[in-house]
Amino acid sequence: MDVNRPSSHSPSPESGSGGSPGSGSTDPFAGSDQHTAISEVGEFGLIAHMRDVLGEPDDASVVSGISDDAAVYRIDERGRVHLATSDALLEGIHFDRTFMPMEHLGFKALSVNVSDIVAMNATPRYAIITLGIPQQMSVEMVGTLYEGVKQACEAYDISVVGGDTTGARGLQVNATVIGEANEEDVVYRQGARVGDKVCVTGDVGASYAGLKVLVANRKQMQEAGDDFQPNLDPFSYVIRRHLAPPAQLKAIQDWAEAGVRPNSMIDISDGVASEAHHISEASGVGMQLYEPALPISVETRNTATEFGEDVSVYALFGGEDYELLFTLPESKVDDLDPQSFSVIGEVTDLDDPAERVMFQQADGENVPLQPGGFDHFDEEAE
Ligand SMILES: [Mg+2]
Repeated sequence: MDVNRPSSHSPSPESGSGGSPGSGSTDPFAGSDQHTAISEVGEFGLIAHMRDVLGEPDDASVVSGISDDAAVYRIDERGRVHLATSDALLEGIHFDRTFMPMEHLGFKALSVNVSDIVAMNATPRYAIITLGIPQQMSVEMVGTLYEGVKQACEAYDISVVGGDTTGARGLQVNATVIGEANEEDVVYRQGARVGDKVCVTGDVGASYAGLKVLVANRKQMQEAGDDFQPNLDPFSYVIRRHLAPPAQLKAIQDWAEAGVRPNSMIDISDGVASEAHHISEASGVGMQLYEPALPISVETRNTATEFGEDVSVYALFGGEDYELLFTLPESKVDDLDPQSFSVIGEVTDLDDPAERVMFQQADGENVPLQPGGFDHFDEEAE
């Protein structure tokens, strides 16, 4: 298989996080008169620069700042912590209003944030939503968006406690979610141990398959006009996974009941490959993944076949699945419901950073897996 990123998402596998700027300069930000395009350093490079400017927080109550899926800070002396995360969904960048129903958008805006809290093994509690509203939007449309917000509040048992509204050129939905946990229960990207099994909840690649169908459908509609009668029934699962992905709150609740706590965890927003790299880097370990073990739904496979593409590329680099990638001691694997997750590999010693995450293809060949993933600052990204 070609272990590159999906072509419609991004131009080259080299331009993602930590990609080399190729400018010859060791510090692309050196000198205030220098202009470094953000696409040169990528989204993760930009975040690293922000952290450099701020420095580490000078506050002992901050357990974990800008480094994980959510920030963690102590709220009392009895071991309770709050977790906070914020994600924006912007029209034209994260969604296309021609095929994103307002209700789904409201649901998704909370789901993607709840997913980050869940990825820290914490319980989401409160949400704050800021809307940037373009002039042509009506009260009714905002109401429909908030129907989706309400559905998410019910699904995840959280409360919207505030926010802001402002005018904007394109629709923007920016949500912040606050969660709670005992400090000892929080799971970070760091913590993976050699010998751990690498696991993933549910199935992966479906969201990207759904996006492919929706984009192709939009194109056909633009070409054929009113005569076009789409039949999206065979793709209803993957479309739903793209438009209204559920966060995996139930999974961590089941694990707590079974007395299981993963050693490390992250949610899959940018694709299995990118998230595996994040855990590997934060934990200082390597990973061996196996292509035949990737959990992929029949509908996702059918979609890839329809487009003549490699379904493993969808699973590894598609992203927006909002499943959980986690590592677990082998002795704990049998304690979890086997229907709820798949073992896709194991944690290994890190001998060579160039072979940080290895991927054994179905044909038996073992190749280094690049992080890939969708970088919002890629110039050619959709
Ligand atoms: Mg995340």
